[in-house]
Amino acid sequence: MEFYDSHCHLDPLRYGGEISDVLARSRAAGVSRLTVIGTRAADSEAAANLCAMEPGLVCAAGIHPNDTTEIEPDEWDRVTRLIVSGRVAAVGETGLDWYRDTASHEVQRDFFDRHIRLAQKLCLPLVIHCRESIRDVLDTLAAARHHGPLTGVLHSFTGTAEEAAEAVDLGFFLGFAGMVTFRSAESIRQVATTVPADRLLIETDSPFLSPEPLRGRRNEPAHLIHTARCLAIARGESLESLAATTTANACRLFRQRES
Ligand SMILES: [Zn+2]
Repeated sequence: MEFYDSHCHLDPLRYGGEISDVLARSRAAGVSRLTVIGTRAADSEAAANLCAMEPGLVCAAGIHPNDTTEIEPDEWDRVTRLIVSGRVAAVGETGLDWYRDTASHEVQRDFFDRHIRLAQKLCLPLVIHCRESIRDVLDTLAAARHHGPLTGVLHSFTGTAEEAAEAVDLGFFLGFAGMVTFRSAESIRQVATTVPADRLLIETDSPFLSPEPLRGRRNEPAHLIHTARCLAIARGESLESLAATTTANACRLFRQRES
């Protein structure tokens, strides 16, 4: 069985010298494919360097919405250069966060638009963060589709079944993270059962929010198996079938050959 962690932050800035151990544990657990996500210029560049050396890894480059007002003046140019260089499989992490509110809505919207335009120009998928902003994210994506084709993933999805269906209609995938394993997350599990099999992705969002039963520990891609098992049970399918579909979906989205 092969698993694809479609969203992890696995850069040396967060894991220090432990990256090779983290990757070894990941591969031993069957999580042999990863999309490593950048949130600033430095971790995007580090992710691209890591992916150039490690088989099964691709990366996304972007400026996280919560960081949009903190970046250095050259960071957007560095991220753009990296994306244009062809070394990335996706644009992001981008999106809108009305929960943390560390950056003004106006600045967040400006950066979200920039990422969308870049993704459309280069025909790359988008990796989208949305927190208490799903209505605005869906409306923005619907409007952007008038300017050309667009696809991507709403990562760590926690919206309703109706919002999930709307995202699917817009051509997007939905990524489910460790939160689905939490006892209190019955509604997210319920929504996950409504997502069409060909649009479902799984992710760890490492190093954040480990799934049950590892809650409270630093997350890493090897932990994906717990989220996968929980989703397979919720959807009434075998772990093998969930692994196969979510891996095929991620390969399709990030344009990777299936092995
Ligand atoms: Zn993330």
